[in-house]
Amino acid sequence: MSTQKFSTNALHAGYDVTQNGGTRAVPIYQSTAYVFNDSDHAANLFSLAETGNIYTRINNPTTDVLEQRLATLEGGIAAVATASGASAIATTLLTLLKAGDHIVASNSLYGGTYNLLKVTLPRHGVTTTFVDPSDPDAFTNAAQENTRAFFVESLGNPKLDVLDLENIAAQAKGFKVPFIVDNTVATPYLLNPIKHGANIVIHSLTKYINGNGTALGGIIIDAGTFDWTNGKFPEFTEPSAGYHGLVYSEALEAAAFIAKVRIEGLRDYGSAISPFNAFQIIQGLETLDIRIKKHSENAFALATWLQKQEEVTWVNYPGLATSEYSELAQKYLPKGQSGIVTFGVKGGYESAKTIADTTKLFSLLANIGDTKSLIIHPASTTHQQLTLEEQESTGVTNDLIRLSVGLENLDDLIVDLEEAFAKIPKEVIA
Ligand SMILES: *Cc1c(COP(=O)(O)O)cnc(C)c1O
Repeated sequence: MSTQKFSTNALHAGYDVTQNGGTRAVPIYQSTAYVFNDSDHAANLFSLAETGNIYTRINNPTTDVLEQRLATLEGGIAAVATASGASAIATTLLTLLKAGDHIVASNSLYGGTYNLLKVTLPRHGVTTTFVDPSDPDAFTNAAQENTRAFFVESLGNPKLDVLDLENIAAQAKGFKVPFIVDNTVATPYLLNPIKHGANIVIHSLTKYINGNGTALGGIIIDAGTFDWTNGKFPEFTEPSAGYHGLVYSEALEAAAFIAKVRIEGLRDYGSAISPFNAFQIIQGLETLDIRIKKHSENAFALATWLQKQEEVTWVNYPGLATSEYSELAQKYLPKGQSGIVTFGVKGGYESAKTIADTTKLFSLLANIGDTKSLIIHPASTTHQQLTLEEQESTGVTNDLIRLSVGLENLDDLIVDLEEAFAKIPKEVIA
């Protein structure tokens, strides 16, 4: 465990200058494969008797720095980076589960994750029950004999609900299943789910961690705290046909899960990150703390301003005292509540579209966590496929606008929104 502080670890963890010819920046090791010393060395690497590089689908020295750095920042024992946040989630669940297994998940999830659980995984025999995470017994009540994971987002996108992680962690512990937390919107600077009982933490690195909207990436971080020998996970305690009889829980102990993700998950599903993207994301990670502080400040100030505008019917930002998640935000996100703000406008669907079509500094696109401000009207774009009932549970109403507040000067962002609000017909606002 590192004793150094966040900003120091974000710059240094996982990288040894003396092993890299003195290069101060982490170099890009753009190589597909690695030369073995001899056949015995190769045999040892394949049998895990020795650790080392084999092939970039499984490991890479640039990616290794990113993995160690994020494991340190989240307080985990090890991590595996992947090509995207979506592939981090899919690789985690496909490594953990088999046909016949069941997941209990929060109903407030990123759209892509929701579809994976609702439509795609059932085709492979893995089903999910979605629950309202604000109900304190929801996970226990929905758990079945074949349940093998609880899955949530710490700060839901786009509902912005702050989850009571300690309560859900206790339910997962009681039911002896791993508690998996997507911590993308909060980032490891604002929240460390492992401190509150999470067993596995996932990020889309594409968002705040890279921060510049230039590279896709994902990561899976293992807390090393889950007991895979509790009888529910024979793939970890019996000889693995997928890795010449290896018994993960004996050979790798606390690292059983994250090792299986690497040597079976990455090997078989192939969702490796490019070393170039790993390098790019390392550049972003170096300044995560100062950026996410500023994103949070700008978002809070803009949310406060929005509350006073006559065109606006409601504002949702967990840092506002008026938010129904205010108490949980003070407990879990005391350093800031990240950069996403949602609000409703008079005139609903049409007004919301007008605003999204008019802003200039706020770019109309489907992403979050960029240094530049972004805007989207989910009901006409990312969430147009949802039923009315699903729109309600995910919090996506027709009048909802989602802002990802960037690092621009606040005054300029306000002028941009004022100009867009002015396009709404007067009779709609009166
Ligand atoms: C964007 C996002 C993802 C998916 O990540 P990609 O890198 O786009 O694949 C997963 N979870 C959350 C909360 C996200 O915002």
